[in-house]
Order: sequence, then C-alpha cells, then structure tokens
Amino acid sequence: MSTAAAAAAAGVHCLPIPTPFMVGRVNCYLIEDDPLTLVDTGPNSGKALDQLERSLGGHGRRIEDLERIVITHQHIDHLGLVDILARRSGAEVCALQELAPLIEDFGAEAERDDELAAALMLRHGIPRDVVTALRAVSRPFRGWGGSTPVSRRLRDGEAIGFADRSLEVLHRPGHSPSDTVFWDAERALLLAGDHLIKHISSNPLISRALGGKSGEPGGGRPRALLTYLASMRETREMPAELLLPGHGEAFGDHAELIDERFAMHERRAAKIRGLLAEGPLSAHEVAQSLWGNVAVTQAYLTLSEVLGHVDMLVEREEVREQELGGVVRYEAV
Ligand SMILES: [Zn+2]
Repeated sequence: MSTAAAAAAAGVHCLPIPTPFMVGRVNCYLIEDDPLTLVDTGPNSGKALDQLERSLGGHGRRIEDLERIVITHQHIDHLGLVDILARRSGAEVCALQELAPLIEDFGAEAERDDELAAALMLRHGIPRDVVTALRAVSRPFRGWGGSTPVSRRLRDGEAIGFADRSLEVLHRPGHSPSDTVFWDAERALLLAGDHLIKHISSNPLISRALGGKSGEPGGGRPRALLTYLASMRETREMPAELLLPGHGEAFGDHAELIDERFAMHERRAAKIRGLLAEGPLSAHEVAQSLWGNVAVTQAYLTLSEVLGHVDMLVEREEVREQELGGVVRYEAV
C-alpha cells in the first residue's frame, strides 16, 4: 500500500493548500472521525480558502461541517485561515497551551518576534540599514496570519479523543518553539507538522521562547537547533510507521531520516569550526562566507542557521563567545 493510501485507510486525508511562500504547498489533514477534524488551515488568502473548500468537497465535506481544528505550530502557512474557518464552522480550536496566546493575538506576538529578530541581527553583526530594510519587508507578511480564540488548550502528553481514535499530544519544539506532533499509537501514525519533513531540513528559526520546554534557563537567547536536536532524539525512539508532514510526501523510516539530519548538522558545525579556526568572526561574517549575498537577502534565516551550529560548538567547548561594543564574535578554543 502506498503511504497516502495507508493514511486514507486510517481515515486521514492530505489536503495540499497553496501558499505564497518559497516552501510551496502546505499539507492540511482531514480526519474522518467524530468530531470531524482539520489539522492546520493554510495561509489567510482567498486562493488557499478556495482550494481548501474544493479539497473538502472532494471528500463530500464543507467548511461548515468541521467540528474541530487542530493547529500544529505558530507559522502563518499553518494557521492563517483559522479565524475564518472557526467562525464559519463553529469548530472548537485546539492548540498546545504555550501556542494559544500566539493564535489569540497573532499581530502583537509577530511584532515582538520581529523585535527579537532585529536585536539579534544587530548583536551578531548585521548592519543597521539591512536590519531596518528587512523589518519593513517582514511586516506585510503578517496579513497571511490570523487570530482567533483558542477553545481548548492542550498539554504536552495529554490525549485528544475521537469516536474511533485517540491522538497523543507531544510538544517537539525546535523548528518553531510551539511545534506539536500528534501520535496515533494504535495505527503507528504520526501527524508531524513541520517537525520532520522528508525533502527539506526544517530550519530552526530563532523565535521568542514560550515557556515550558522551549524556555531557556538563565533567560539567554533561545538555542533553537539544540532544542530541535533534542526533540528529534525523542521522535527517533518512537515506533512510528507512517509520518504525515506539513509539507511534501508522507514517509516511513523516520529514524534513518533523523540520522541523516544529525550527520548533516555535524558536517555544518565542523565547517563553521574550520572557518573560526582561522580567526574570530561574527555569526553574520560566517554566514557571508558560507552563502555570500544570500546572507544579506535572507539575513535572519542564515543567521539562525549559523547560531544554531555555533551553539553546538559552544556547548562542546570548541568555540567561545566574545562581546565587544555590543557585537558578538566567536573564536575557536
Ligand atoms: Zn513551520
């Protein structure tokens, strides 16, 4: 049986929804059970809403039939339509308790994330004019987001019940601080969100800590990649047979995929260590030497990527941080 057929046999249908972002389509999932449930919503756009209605129609369903909406994490391609869908259907909205405030006040939360991003970019050597320009570019993106009251706040480890199944709620921060996966132990099926995607390595973007497992003891900057590696170690041990991701195809063999990701992060950390062995550099200088101009156009993404790997090296005491005049540089030990 193909992976998609296996999922459909379990009453879970993948509904790919277009997004205006580089990632391409986002996968929403319709769970044919009682209550009728949609996992993730797609971005807040007419095109996404239109496609979602047609895809639901393909299964003989309408938006008004939805009884429960579950959100996997805080990114706009996954939650943008939540308010429109919740209002039209009256469905309950379920999200991890740490994620709920972000869904309920999306605009203000996004503004605070942008403030953190700007402060981090300045601290790690990105010129002020670039930071200002990037902030202006990021603001219109929020239009694809959405806010709605969360009717049910989920706790890590609790179960969501259906007539015919039970899904265990598991917090797996890293890709974002709020990543939540939903585990159907009976079917060995994992709704993985963006925690694990087969064709792309999920970028652990640095976002504000939410408390709980994503919180940083000592109040420092969130160490997104270290958090993500720890989450992947937990997922690796699960007896999952089928993973349904937030983007791309369903897949099995998740332990093998996770091992490939661990190896990739080790290679990247080793490369950065090699650069720092030649002399101290800011994280932005490292990004420029790895990716050239992309380090400017995608400054925050590449900065997050470098800082994530530098955190691995700092933890192993192979690299240390030095701060001079508000800008951080890293040097090999
Ligand atoms: Zn995401």
